This record gives sequence, structure tokens and C-alpha cells, in this order.
Amino acid sequence: LLEVRDLRKTYGERVVLDGLDLSVGAHEVVCLIGASGSGKSTLLRCVNLLESVDDGQVLLDGAEITDPRADPRDVRREIGVVFQAYNLFPHLTALDNCTLAPVRVHGVPRAEAVERARGLLDRFGLSAQADVHPDRLSGGQQQRVALVRALCTQPRLLLLDEITAALDPELVGDVLDLVRAEAEAGMTMLIATHEMAFAREVATRVAYLHRGRVLEQGPPAQVLSDPREEATRRFLRRVL
Ligand code: ATP
Ligand code: MG
Repeated sequence: LLEVRDLRKTYGERVVLDGLDLSVGAHEVVCLIGASGSGKSTLLRCVNLLESVDDGQVLLDGAEITDPRADPRDVRREIGVVFQAYNLFPHLTALDNCTLAPVRVHGVPRAEAVERARGLLDRFGLSAQADVHPDRLSGGQQQRVALVRALCTQPRLLLLDEITAALDPELVGDVLDLVRAEAEAGMTMLIATHEMAFAREVATRVAYLHRGRVLEQGPPAQVLSDPREEATRRFLRRVL
């Protein structure tokens, strides 16, 4: 579904992605792990075209989306994103946050968008919050609404960047439950995370980023419990 080929990204002198290769097949859940600054967020931003790339390609279903002629709006229709925090539009209710893009960007009839959004909010235990503004929601509820909002556009691929990092520990579980449910429903996801326990449980594959490349990847049990590379071992000793 997604293929990243020889991707390079520099900020001034700093090489952040240094010939990175990664592919994500349909229904795979790939967790990106790696030290702070290893380029996880940069990679996700490049995939969603929030960041230009210096060299290399990103392909979605074989079509090069990093081609300057590709329309970023077409790409973002296919790829949903949720970041660490501050995702929701503060002046809109949870429901209106969820229907905005489908109606405005994708041309879905409002009634249909509302039905879809209410269905998903229901499914994730948020029906009582549908007509509430974000400032009246807990952090965990806000983040779950942000996930529902991303799902409302019916993306083929979901990018999640440290979506629990800003949450109180007791709120993390509910958000991860939602991600787990989506994984089980077959959603394809690329997830940057510091939560090794979560990666172990939800990932079909874990990729360890080191110096702007995927140094090692494989099934979670292998990469997290029996890494091949010394650098991965060192990283895991620090975080586990
Ligand atoms: P973390 O685990 O802390 O989220 P990360 O793996 O997501 O880290 P990135 O945010 O991708 O790392 O950052 C990689 C490197 O790129 C860092 O050294 C960072 O300082 C640098 N960087 C990121 N964005 C910019 C920017 N807009 N301008 C300059 N440097 C940047
Ligand atoms: Mg990051």
C-alpha cells in the first residue's frame, strides 16, 4: 500500500532521513520506534506531504505522491493523521469536528457524514460527547474524537504520531483500545510510539529508526525481545 524509497530529508546541515526505505502492506500495523530525534515524526510528515522531501520517493498504491505534480489534497483524502495533541478545532463540537472534512473536502452529503460520525462516536463510547466542545472533554476523550475524526474520512492508511504522549497515564488505555479495535478491523497503520508494550501488542511489524534509516525491522517479539543490532539493544535497554 505504502512504499518509501531511499528518502532523504535535511534541515540545513542536519540530515534527518538518510536514505530511508520502508514499506507497509494493506492491513499491516507498523510501529516506528527509535530515540528522540531519530526522524519518526519527520517521516510521518513526509508521507502526508506536510514536509517536502530532498530526495527519494513515497508511493501510495504504486503512484508517486512525492511527485511535484501530485495534488496533496488527493493524498490527504487517502491518508488520515493524528498527532500528539491539540488536534481538534476548539470552536466546533466533537460531531462537527468529525463531519467537517468529509463535507467540506470530500463532498459527502451532510446527513451521511453525520450518520457516519455518530456511528463511530457511538462505537467508541463517545455518543454523550458528540455535541460538546473540545474544552469540555478530557484529554483522552479529545484524542479519541481526533481518531474518530480521522476515521470519518475513511482513509486507506492512518498515521499516528505519539497520540498518547500528552495524556495522563489513566487516559492512555482508552485511546489505545480504540487503536487496537481499528487494527483488528483491518485498518492499515503507521504508528510512531514510545510505548513499547503497546507496539508489542498491536504491531504486525516493528521498525527501529536509527540515524535516519530503518536499522532493523521484524515481528515485535523478535525486534523487542531479541534484536539483531547492538544499537537496537542499547535503545531498548534505555526505554524498557
Ligand atoms: P521524538 O521521539 O522526540 O518525537 P522524532 O523521532 O519524532 O523524535 P523528529 O521530530 O522527526 O524526531 O526530528 C528529527 C530531527 O529533525 C531532530 O533532530 C529535530 O531537531 C529535527 N527537526 C525536526 N523538524 C525540524 C524543523 N522544522 N526544522 C529544523 N529541524 C527539525
Ligand atoms: Mg516525534
